[in-house]
Amino acid sequence: MPRIQQLPASVITKIAAGEVIERPASVVKELLENSVDAGAHRIDIAIEQGGTELIRVVDDGCGIVADDLPLAFASHATSKLACADELFQIQSLGFRGEALASVGSVAQVTLQSRPADQACGAEIHCDGGKIAPIRAWNGAPGTRIEVRHLFYNTPVRRKFLRTAATEVGHICEVVTRLALSHPTLELTLRHNGKDVYQVPASAGLVDRLALFFGPEVRDQLYAVEARHGPVRLWGEIADPACERGNAKMQYLFVNRRWIRDRSLGHALQEAYRGLLMTGRYAVAFLFLELPPDQVDVNVHPTKVEVRFRDAQALYHLVLATVRDRLRAQDLTARLRSPAAASGTWEVSREPPARMNIFAPQPAMPRNIVPAVDGQHRDGAVPSFFEKPAISTDGVPAPAPAPLSPGPLKAIQLYDSYLILETDEGMLVIDQHALHERILFEQLQARIRAGCLEVQRLLIPEPVDLTAEQAARTLEHRDALAELGLGVEDFDDLRKIHQ
Ligand code: ADP
Ligand code: MG
Repeated sequence: MPRIQQLPASVITKIAAGEVIERPASVVKELLENSVDAGAHRIDIAIEQGGTELIRVVDDGCGIVADDLPLAFASHATSKLACADELFQIQSLGFRGEALASVGSVAQVTLQSRPADQACGAEIHCDGGKIAPIRAWNGAPGTRIEVRHLFYNTPVRRKFLRTAATEVGHICEVVTRLALSHPTLELTLRHNGKDVYQVPASAGLVDRLALFFGPEVRDQLYAVEARHGPVRLWGEIADPACERGNAKMQYLFVNRRWIRDRSLGHALQEAYRGLLMTGRYAVAFLFLELPPDQVDVNVHPTKVEVRFRDAQALYHLVLATVRDRLRAQDLTARLRSPAAASGTWEVSREPPARMNIFAPQPAMPRNIVPAVDGQHRDGAVPSFFEKPAISTDGVPAPAPAPLSPGPLKAIQLYDSYLILETDEGMLVIDQHALHERILFEQLQARIRAGCLEVQRLLIPEPVDLTAEQAARTLEHRDALAELGLGVEDFDDLRKIHQ
């Protein structure tokens, strides 16, 4: 019969650490949040080997008095919360007092700190949960913390870590989120001695967005602002033309804390409905400010999810605010004017306005020309029509759409859309999406047949990427090479857009 026994404190801390510290980026997040809570104006971050060997964070915040240093590594010891009632009045990013204890239990940590009004500071070491005696430390006011050999005593965790490039990517994302929500903060990030980010204090959100995401995003932003009772929603949303293939560029902050929220993400996508193709995501940076008692931040181990007292009201606030702003911006005008359209849709730069989308292709036995002027040629339905039909929003849909037998009738609108008769009604096809699909199928067929020809560019094409995107691109370098795309890292160019 198995017996119940109380776990030793060291195991309890390690279990807690497992929830809070998943990878180097989790450590960076916790340390940055502590620096912000300490009122820092400047934070310098240095990492080595993706953060697995070293994470150093130096701030100019309020510091910690020498006597409190051992408590900093104790579980459930905090300067930010005094009683349970305050749990619903949280104004700081941290409050549970478990981050440093968790980091200290799975790494070798040195914490040095000096409050500005003290002549001398102090330092303390915590090695896998074992705390060494305090010593004097003669450093600048603020706090300096070094985390070495993360997970050195939990080898299984260490095995879960990915390449240094991937871990740096996660760290960049953590830094980006903090920088966006604290525009006046000065931040630097170095990896293996090289600059990744040098972020000066800026005037506001748009400056920050320009810095992190470049002119492509900055030039397509619309400011939003609305109030609902004591709740304020503000931020920047991007033109639908700025769309992305995933929701990663949908940043949501609640009282300056970055969070994930499925419901509010849905509200945002709903607001863009009809302006984006299926499977495409809007770009938006939204900030909710609400009284602390209307949001419970104590529901998730790393506090990236929260619970709202009135989630429905917030859903409607986001939906209505974003939708009204998009409506105010006459986005339909572009549909009427193909000239204006080019450049707004990424794909429209490529194909000529009236391309012969049914040009002879190996995959297509016969040649059909759209009956723009009432003419059409007989022909079999090309293979890409038989399998994935194209839904009304131009994205290949899984279900086949039966086309009328016999001659194919199509008309073309605005040099952009094809309308075809089907047995059940009609089919609206986005020509550009169709063209992409054809190219995709051709490429796929050639890769499968092993006859993909690759031509080296005489002059390489530089691509502007955020540090996080660069890390991801490099991670998939081999897969890209298989597709015929050689990618090289211009290390020192991989800095933030200045
Ligand atoms: P929490 O942030 O939830 O209070 P932590 O374990 O992250 O818990 O930190 C414990 C305590 O250590 C904090 O409450 C704070 O008083 C102190 N502390 C940690 N980092 C810093 C820092 N960079 N500057 C000043 N004080 C700090
Ligand atoms: Mg903390």
